Amino acid sequence: MDVFKMADYDDHEQVVFCNQADVGLKAIIAIHDTTLGPSLGGCRFYPYKSNEEALSDVLRLSQGMTYKSAVAGLDVGGGKSVIIGNPKTDKSESLFRAFGRFLESLGGRYITAEDVNTCVQDMEWIRQETRYVTGISPAHGGGGDPSAMTAYGVFGGIKASLKIKLGHEDLEGIKVAIQGVGRVGYNLCQYLHEAGARLFIADTNREAVDQVVEEFNAAATECDLIHTLDVDVFAPCALGAVLNDSTIPEIKAPIVAGAANNQLADANKHGEALHKRRILYAPDYAINSGGLINVTSELYGYNRERVLNKVEEIYATLLKIYSMSEEKGISTNEAANCLARGRLQSRGKIKTIYIGNLRPVSGEG
Ligand code: NAD
Repeated sequence: MDVFKMADYDDHEQVVFCNQADVGLKAIIAIHDTTLGPSLGGCRFYPYKSNEEALSDVLRLSQGMTYKSAVAGLDVGGGKSVIIGNPKTDKSESLFRAFGRFLESLGGRYITAEDVNTCVQDMEWIRQETRYVTGISPAHGGGGDPSAMTAYGVFGGIKASLKIKLGHEDLEGIKVAIQGVGRVGYNLCQYLHEAGARLFIADTNREAVDQVVEEFNAAATECDLIHTLDVDVFAPCALGAVLNDSTIPEIKAPIVAGAANNQLADANKHGEALHKRRILYAPDYAINSGGLINVTSELYGYNRERVLNKVEEIYATLLKIYSMSEEKGISTNEAANCLARGRLQSRGKIKTIYIGNLRPVSGEG
């Protein structure tokens, strides 16, 4: 495997392979770009079928973090990590502490947080070994699980999308199909239900479905049909690559706006396909940055009020993206990319590689 020639290798600054057999740790840390500051992104625990699959995933995810941070106006760069293993059987304090020591060795060039299959407890174990970890518990000065803040940002993004498509953002009676009612999806359902929306949901986890049906009067649907429903908004909050050759022609909703990362199976092709169908797509990394905003805030002393204000900016950011898409006749994801590249380039012609300690930064993270 030639890492430098991989399709997902996008001029990444650094890729670190971490191995400690006695605790069963096999991990990859990808630092995509530190132009804006130390790289920050979650740690995913996943039973990848191969090392190649894990590497490809971490490369794609870390690139996405660079763009997410740039568009959200944060002073952190793009990074991500994956631990290869079964989250149900392979997690342990010693494994996470070993991972924490690898983070410490990078001197702050990469800072971790929760992601798929990792939780506040795992971050607390990492914290025993390094300060380069966020998403820690409020008891230790952190913001805790960022999922509710991600959902709050998605809620605002749905309102911005309705404003463009329907001319108003009143959710009363608006039909929303939510794919995945886990940590983010559940919180999103709560916001939408309180605002008067009608919910349609699907999840492979029966208990999660039952809870949302019961609490928010949602209608349950089959997982392979949720994207086809005749609703106002389709909100993918489970998996990546759900917008692809077979699903896009079946989508009836005029808006796709949800939390899942890497929703477009092929960014250019499927972003364009949605644009051609006049389906308004909220670029995933722009609408789901609430969690990143939440964990980044911990670097400067967590402040919930400031976080809420910053997350509310997602609404205006999306309006900017939609208007750029309209003016230039480009897809919304391409417009988001333009916005991100513009911010990175505004830092100067010569790329700055982040090397030092965590620095105090003016303004909010
Ligand atoms: P989660 O694991 O808590 O929830 C995902 C849910 O999707 C689970 O309930 C799972 O059973 C369900 N699911 C799995 N396969 C499915 C399928 N085929 N059809 C329907 N449901 C299915 O994860 P989460 O933290 O809620 O994150 C959801 C998505 O949002 C992920 O793509 C994640 O990368 C992204 N995201 C999360 C955050 C965050 O703060 N948690 C931030 C940004 C992006």
